[in-house]
Amino acid sequence: MDDRHLLIALEKYFGYTTFRPLQREIIKDALAGKDTFVLMPTGGGKSLCFQLPSLVSEGVTVVISPLIALMKDQVDAMTSSGIQATFINSSLSQDQISERLKDAREGRYKLLYCAPERLASTRFLSTLSSLDITLFAIDEAHCISQWGHDFREDYRKLQILRNSFPGVPLMALTATATPKVAEDILVQLRIPQAKKYQASFDRPNLTYLVRRKSDAFEDLLDFLRPRKGESGIVYCLSRKSTEAVAEKLRARGFKAVAYHAGLDNAVRAKHQELFIREEVDIVCATIAFGMGIDKSNVRFVVHYDLPKNLEGYYQETGRAGRDGLPSDCLLLYAPSDKVRMQRLIELSEDDIRVEQNKDDLELVCRFAEARTCRKKMVLEYFGEAYSLPNCGKCDICLGTSPKEELIDVTVAAQKFLSTIIRTSQKFGAKYIVSILRGKEDERVLHNRHHQLSTFGIGKDIKEKDWTHLAAELEREGYILRDRNDFNSLKLTRKGNEALVGRQNILLATAPKTRKSESEEEVHSAIQDLPARNAELFERLRILRKLIADERELPPYVIFHDSVLKQMAALLPLTSTALLQLSGVGEKKAEDLGPRFTGAIREFVNDHPDITPVGITRSTPAPTKSTSDTALASVKLFQRGVSLYEIAKERGLTQTTVANHLEEGIKNGEITDIARLVPPHLIDRIRNAFAATGSVFLKPVLNHLNDVTITYDHLKFVRAYDDRTSN
Ligand code: ADP
Ligand code: ZN
Repeated sequence: MDDRHLLIALEKYFGYTTFRPLQREIIKDALAGKDTFVLMPTGGGKSLCFQLPSLVSEGVTVVISPLIALMKDQVDAMTSSGIQATFINSSLSQDQISERLKDAREGRYKLLYCAPERLASTRFLSTLSSLDITLFAIDEAHCISQWGHDFREDYRKLQILRNSFPGVPLMALTATATPKVAEDILVQLRIPQAKKYQASFDRPNLTYLVRRKSDAFEDLLDFLRPRKGESGIVYCLSRKSTEAVAEKLRARGFKAVAYHAGLDNAVRAKHQELFIREEVDIVCATIAFGMGIDKSNVRFVVHYDLPKNLEGYYQETGRAGRDGLPSDCLLLYAPSDKVRMQRLIELSEDDIRVEQNKDDLELVCRFAEARTCRKKMVLEYFGEAYSLPNCGKCDICLGTSPKEELIDVTVAAQKFLSTIIRTSQKFGAKYIVSILRGKEDERVLHNRHHQLSTFGIGKDIKEKDWTHLAAELEREGYILRDRNDFNSLKLTRKGNEALVGRQNILLATAPKTRKSESEEEVHSAIQDLPARNAELFERLRILRKLIADERELPPYVIFHDSVLKQMAALLPLTSTALLQLSGVGEKKAEDLGPRFTGAIREFVNDHPDITPVGITRSTPAPTKSTSDTALASVKLFQRGVSLYEIAKERGLTQTTVANHLEEGIKNGEITDIARLVPPHLIDRIRNAFAATGSVFLKPVLNHLNDVTITYDHLKFVRAYDDRTSN
């Protein structure tokens, strides 16, 4: 199978243009019939490894997962991306199960999720043997090992898979396995020859912070204030403190609930639901919370008390930032916590556990008290070498750097800082750099920032170096990016002092973090949003919530946060433009496109000074093309069939066909628009667009005031000109 097919499916269904590390290799192995073992951190992109293979082949992938509560969400997410999927578990009635098995036999699904205990049912097994199975994916594979921390008896049933289905490859996936557990998984599944893939356990988008507690609740508030409205988890040691903290947060205006094993089942389920559906922002929880949730936009995880061990700390913090956007993990620590924990441990009767727990505690405290890189310590605990001298993502690395590498950047830094102040701290780094470099771009001129005294005073420094300086200033705490104000830069107290003070500013060189290229682009595109687009982001979030409620889905299943941020930054006005965003596949563009682009249009109408920018994904996209149904119309058109005839032949309205052809023009598949718009009108229409300065049709049509010109004519010309001006 050549890679192109994989890329086409990746883009069509998921809206991504590049694979994350290892995904391509794993998928190719599975398609070649090989068994695989995949060890990847949470958020690393495991699901895609088993979701994609069946999309490019005939059969169905059977996914075995112990997390029954998650199956529905996962299936909903697949369905909303246009992938036929279903699940079978004990939450269904016999009738429902029979129905789904029947559909499976008819080849209706690409993905079939099921719980391990299903394999005890002979009826289920016989159905399986009548299916064309591409792959068995065993999620949370560590559950099969007694050495793991989450052994489940039912998982032992998976031992039969290899013998019962000798021709079907197995893929075992987990985010947590020591070498001993990993080995055991292969033995238990009877796949000793499986190809092993292990991704780095580094989560580059997570920042680890440890703060000495003085007044724990006040410290928590300091952390939460700039993060109001974002989703997060606050882990507490006791049930009582989860409730107390939630209560106090509510009193301070935060939307918070408690979650612990002592709550009534119904209450617990409700609180979890409120969090997932984004009715509340914060869950104050014991570690019982998190296993069964898949919320991708958890922006922070706080440990209000010490975690039990480093593995737990990694798992719990790992629930932040699954969508790859920057997220923070804060551990609040006081030496007195250690004493308190020790006492608790000693209360236990089990001597061996006591010793183990004490060792674990010791290690956690060493972690909290260390003056070395947190990332390095965590990764080395998992046996992974970390070689960067400065991770740039922990309080230690952010706060300290070796003296000898420092350089004096006082003058440049002051220019930068003062430009931030002169533009009222409302803009991102890129814009500030434009001013310093004297770029007379539209926004700068519009805001009259070419009249600033700092305009053009930084021409001697390259754009790249300015950007680097900005990142350094942020790392060193002179400025911060206000996440609630679309990453506009603000001076911190330290920054203000530096601006007026006599102290020199010394900076070190920054390390780079890893990400796939196109993700990097997406991130840089959304780093630097005009502050006012924060308003649009909020509107889009509200719209997402509305649609999520209508469809009874969690909001992140509709679109990830990263997609909404791209929308707010890039203002796509058509479904086709929406498709260009990373994370938007065809089904979603078609299904949700009109509502989101509608909201964006409305926003653009309310702010006539904002110009939507053209967007192109830089990766050559053989894959990005007209949707299937549109393509059918385009093909007919190319063969000389007229719009009217296509509509008749396909039983579609002319408007629909016109939309298809508009797409075809945008994608360059149709170049001869003279067949669609009378040639003598083309220039008149162009002039009208120019005269009204509008990207919308109505004002242009009014301006033309000619009954022979239709909306479709305008659309075709606009699409053609968009295409050729790119
Ligand atoms: P895991 O199962 O390993 O915890 P997921 O499969 O949930 O991770 O993936 C985490 C996030 O990464 C999801 O939002 C997913 O859409 C995204 N993702 C996966 N593969 C890619 C890719 N190739 N490019 C961009 N994003 C990706
Ligand atoms: Zn570090």
